[in-house]
Amino acid sequence: MTIDFNKNNDGLVPAIIQDATTKNVLMLGYMNQEAYNKTIDTNKVTFYSRSKKRLWTKGEESGNVLELVDIKNDCDNDSLLIQVHPKGPTCHTGSDTCWKEENTSNFGFLSTLENVISERVANKETKKSYVASLFDKGINKIAQKVGEEAVETVIEAMDNNDDLFLYESADLLFHYIMLLQAKGFTLKDIEAELIKRQK
Ligand code: AMP
Ligand code: ZN
Ligand code: ZN
Ligand code: ZN
Repeated sequence: MTIDFNKNNDGLVPAIIQDATTKNVLMLGYMNQEAYNKTIDTNKVTFYSRSKKRLWTKGEESGNVLELVDIKNDCDNDSLLIQVHPKGPTCHTGSDTCWKEENTSNFGFLSTLENVISERVANKETKKSYVASLFDKGINKIAQKVGEEAVETVIEAMDNNDDLFLYESADLLFHYIMLLQAKGFTLKDIEAELIKRQK
């Protein structure tokens, strides 16, 4: 479908920029037909800057260009979702994204769980919890629990009871996130390590 550049009578459509790898929302810009064409032709995201009143290739001064991966129209063709590989920080403040705070947690509920765990650990003197008591027993005990849950997961993988496999997998992931935290890491660090190994 062709893009409806004239819905707002200004020749512009909003373009949401998303990191193709991490799925973080990086920034929002506007495109006219010319900016859109230039983006496709050069494989680098070019906007129409409403303040500069001209085409603006993101990174033209900073070098932090957005390498095009994919462009999608929305349901009624009046906005764009553009996936990119950012070559450096996207925000002019030097942050990866223009919505730094809101974008820090990108593993959905697992990120919420990471926050709950660190909150329990931080308040372990005043509030009793399973997480707090496990951290009190020390890192070796947490590591041992991960080992136990891993073995239970392996055992349940070898029969046909998928409910138990799912249950033990959840146990494993929960304790693994705790072990990461005890070692001073987060899921983000593991993601970064896996991303490094691509290709
Ligand atoms: P750049 O396109 O990265 O070379 O940056 C050039 C100028 O564009 C900066 O000095 C800012 O004024 C502006 N700019 C860069 N990145 C952004 C952004 N993510 N959102 C809004 N303005 C930006
Ligand atoms: Zn729309
Ligand atoms: Zn910004
Ligand atoms: Zn278990």
